[in-house]
Amino acid sequence: MGTFVAVVIVVVAALILGAVLYVQHELRGPETRPVPVFARAAMRRARGARRTRVAPGDGCACGGTIGRTGRISSRFGELLGCTGCRRSWTEDGRRIVRRRPGGARRDQPPRAA
Ligand SMILES: [Zn+2]
Repeated sequence: MGTFVAVVIVVVAALILGAVLYVQHELRGPETRPVPVFARAAMRRARGARRTRVAPGDGCACGGTIGRTGRISSRFGELLGCTGCRRSWTEDGRRIVRRRPGGARRDQPPRAA
């Protein structure tokens, strides 16, 4: 009978220990799971970037002002430019991303505008 009681005590102790560990894990859970927040922020950032359009008079990320450059691109039409950096946009406000040397030249046949 003594052995049986000892076994029951050990089993109950193990269950309590397990319950305590489980509760601690659950309490710690929300703090160690910031992933959904990051994911939502990243999604918002991606969606915002896709929607970004500029217009003459808007501010640029560099602090300059976006305005008409008078330059006409054969591919994009009239170009908007920044007073502070070399970014360009199409007239309808879409950002023109010029790839740096090393392959971009091949997609854009050199055609002097
Ligand atoms: Zn700029």
